[in-house]
Formats: sequence, C-alpha cells, structure tokens
Amino acid sequence: MKLHEYQARDICAKYGIPVTGGGVAITPAEVRAIATHIGAPVVVKAQVFVGGRGKAGGVKLAQTPAEAELVGSQILGMDIKGLTVEKVLVAEAITYVHEIYLGVIMDRATKQIIVMASAEGGVEIEEVAKTNPDAIKKVAAHPTLGLLDYQARELAFAIGLTDGKQARQFASIASALYKIYMETDASLAEINPLVVKADGALQALDSKIVVDDSALFRHPDLEAMRDSSDEPLAEQQAREAGITFIKLDGDIGCMVNGAGLAMATMDVVNLYGGSPANFLDVGGGAGKDKVKAALQIILSDKNVKAVLFNIFGGITRVDEVAKGIIAALAEVDTDVPMVARLVGTNEVEGRRLLENSVLIPASTLGEGAQKAVAAAKAYAASKA
Ligand code: GDP
Ligand code: MN
Repeated sequence: MKLHEYQARDICAKYGIPVTGGGVAITPAEVRAIATHIGAPVVVKAQVFVGGRGKAGGVKLAQTPAEAELVGSQILGMDIKGLTVEKVLVAEAITYVHEIYLGVIMDRATKQIIVMASAEGGVEIEEVAKTNPDAIKKVAAHPTLGLLDYQARELAFAIGLTDGKQARQFASIASALYKIYMETDASLAEINPLVVKADGALQALDSKIVVDDSALFRHPDLEAMRDSSDEPLAEQQAREAGITFIKLDGDIGCMVNGAGLAMATMDVVNLYGGSPANFLDVGGGAGKDKVKAALQIILSDKNVKAVLFNIFGGITRVDEVAKGIIAALAEVDTDVPMVARLVGTNEVEGRRLLENSVLIPASTLGEGAQKAVAAAKAYAASKA
C-alpha cells in the first residue's frame, strides 16, 4: 500500500527527519488559506500515487497566496498519468543548492536491506540507474544490528558529503529512514530530493513510503491512511472480501483456491491457447459468500468471455463452493459460459448441486481449460 507524500512526510517528521511544514488542500481557496498562513513563497504539490509529478506539472512554486490559489486551481483536477489530482500539499518553498537521493529497499537477490544514496537526486532513481549507475552508492544493513553508524557515514562520504557536521546529519537521517522502513514494515522508504541548503543543512522535500500489504494487519494506524481512490474498483472489492485478485488482459476469468493452483491454472489456460483475464485466489476454506463475491468481481470485467472454476477441495468444501456459485448465478445476470472443474472434499455432493445448472462440467484441469477456451471463442463469435 502506497502512502501519500504528506502522510510519509508526517511519519518522517515523527522520526526526527527535517521536513517542510504545510497542509493539505482540496480546493484552491484552501490552498490560498494555507499559503497565507505559512507565508509565501510556497510549493503546491499534487498528491497522487505516481513518481515524476514535477515533470508532469504537478509541482509548482508560488510567490504569493493569490498565485498559490491560481496554481492550486491548475493542479487540482489535473490528470497525471491517468490519475486525477484530488488533494494538494501546500508547503513552504525551500531554497536549496543541491538535490540528493536517499532510499531503503529490500534486495531480494541478495536477501539484504539496502540503503542507497546518490548525489544525483531530484530525478527518478530508475533514470539514474539507467544513465549513470555508478552514481548510486549502496550499503547493506546488518541483518540483526541494522544500519550501523559507520555505514551511514560511509554513504555520506561516498556521495560527497565530506563535511563532518553534514555527514553526521546525513547519517542520522539515513538511520531514521532505515528505522521507518523497519518499523512500518515498508517495502520502500525514500526521500527524493533530500536537499542541501545554502547553510549546508539537509532537509527532506519529498518522501515516499510503500507498506508491505502482508504486514498491514499489524499496523491499523497505517491501514487507516489508505486512499483507495486510485485502486481499481474490482481490486478494492476483492481486498474487502479477502480475495487475492489481480486483473490481467485476457478473456478467461479464473476462480481458483490456492495461489499455486491459480498460477498453474493460468499456465494451462495459456497452454491451450487461451488468455487469463485475472489471477484470483479465493483462499483456503472459502465459503459461499466469498465465492459469490469472487464471481461478481470476475464478471464485472467486460472482457471476460468464459469463466473457469478450478477448485481443489481440501479444507475448502466443494459443496460450499457449488452453493456459492448457485447463489451468485441467482443474482448476477450473465450469459457468459462457465466451466467447472471441482474435485476433492464433498465433490460428489458439489457436482450433484450443479447438475441442473448452466455450468459445463470438466473432470481434469486440462479438460476444463480446453473447454473454457472453446467456450470463450464460441461466446465471442456469438456476439460478433
Ligand atoms: P516528484 O517529481 O513526484 O518526485 O515530486 P518532488 O516533490 O520530488 O518535486 C519535484 C521537484 O520539484 C524537486 O526535485 C524540486 O526540484 C522541486 N521542488 C519540490 N519542492 C520544492 C521546494 O520546496 N522548493 C524548490 N525550489 N523546489 C522544489
Ligand atoms: Mn520526488
């Protein structure tokens, strides 16, 4: 889950990182009021979950409260990479001489937490990685002791912060960001730019935190910060129903229990020339309501031309799944063909329940996939 810049900024402030003050506005008049309160000049920044807002025109300086209101009216409602700006952060504009990048990430290849810094901040780090990878300096945090003081200072020296006082300030900011990364269960914590001001002091102008979804259950305070505005509706519904769902570009909707089986199902659909419309794992022990929600989510995708149920009943009971399918079909008005391969616990009962339904039965995954691919083709042809 991504946090907005202003939310990440507030967390950084709590950990002692120097950030710019300011408030969030949803109308140009509010922008003006905040600018008046702070005292211009201010910077008005779109709060949307994309990088490169600056280049896209979503970050603008204003010299007076009136100008702030004007740029606020330009940025609010603006479309940045497909997202509509609904909120802006109005912050004190900072004058600086240099922009630095600082980030903490998990390096899955080496199974280490990496703290990276670059003297080429301000631009997206992926850009620097492409054009000048040597400008990115990295240290791996100690697995149990964390980021050690000397490592943080080495990083400071490596990016040219050789003044003792400055290196110490950088080290304390890097340590704080590392601590944020650990304590929020983040998958990314980043400050870009971290600026050097004329007096040599450092200040964070833009921070970003991405929290690991799997750890959110132990961070109700972070969960409360969730902004679902840019989350596709189907994914939002899936999350609320406790279903793992990822939309894909194909036309065969898949409902499967278990992530491994869901991936295998997608492979077999591909093998028989089909293309999955989604990855969907209803999870172990899914009951009627969950199955119903899953089917509604699958059918809300207008690309779907056939649905394949691949359920391997273990803890999940096939008859419960069958009841879910029947309940969903009673409520969802659809003529999309559906193929069911249901095996395992209570399969006889489950199949009996579905005997008089519209579902096309299949006894193996291969057969199910082939039937789904054929049904999707026939359905598409009938609509053409
Ligand atoms: P991003 O493009 O989405 O990463 O948004 P940023 O918040 O990083 O802003 C982009 C750029 O705007 C920064 O690299 C700075 O050059 C500039 N910027 C942001 N805040 C300020 C500020 O307070 N003062 C000045 N002078 N420039 C700023
Ligand atoms: Mn930035």
